[in-house]
Amino acid sequence: MASATDSRYGQKESSDQNFDYMFKILIIGNSSVGKTSFLFRYADDSFTPAFVSTVGIDFKVKTIYRNDKRIKLQIWDTAGQERYRTITTAYYRGAMGFILMYDITNEESFNAVQDWSTQIKTYSWDNAQVLLVGNKCDMEDERVVSSERGRQLAEHLGFEFFEASAKDNINVKQTFERLVDIICEKMSESLDTADPAVTGAKQGPQLTDQGAPPHQDCAC
Ligand code: GDP
Ligand code: MG
Repeated sequence: MASATDSRYGQKESSDQNFDYMFKILIIGNSSVGKTSFLFRYADDSFTPAFVSTVGIDFKVKTIYRNDKRIKLQIWDTAGQERYRTITTAYYRGAMGFILMYDITNEESFNAVQDWSTQIKTYSWDNAQVLLVGNKCDMEDERVVSSERGRQLAEHLGFEFFEASAKDNINVKQTFERLVDIICEKMSESLDTADPAVTGAKQGPQLTDQGAPPHQDCAC
């Protein structure tokens, strides 16, 4: 059942070393906001209306091109641990970007955003970039969280903001591409200032810079 993008199983992708950078990205947020659907939509361009949280995948891999760079994304899904808030710190390790998701038809999921943000700030690398995503924007009739509230919260937390729909394929690709762009921007800033957190790679991101000189700017 594994698709070519399932890194754990996909020979093709897992043996493919032909990329300039690799970014680990995490999707977090309350249970049933649509995280798994969002990942499937992006990685496989599919949507399964049934509740898919039991699939239990760890991550999917997708390689994209941004400004002449081949960037391999390793995108992690929580496989249901978020239900009991049992996500371990190991999950956060090495992540360079987060998609923090709530459901625009679910107030509780929106109220939980602050807590998830605190978790990110507590457990992840300082320079990790976060995008706040209000998913299920196709369900306008059942909306309980206005776009304005989403935007204000994002601004308050210092994140960029998108409303999206995994179902109707609205802003899914854009979310990932924007996240990649802001990771690249941050990376070139850090390289400019020779931040040891980045160049030292000790606790830094899983930044694989193949063959390029260490101070070459990311062209993203
Ligand atoms: P997760 O627990 O955050 O991984 O959420 P799932 O991806 O399992 O989705 C939970 C439920 O919401 C499923 O029934 C999905 O079909 C549904 N769902 C996910 N994304 C969307 C969306 O954009 N629009 C609508 N209408 N339903 C969605
Ligand atoms: Mg899920």
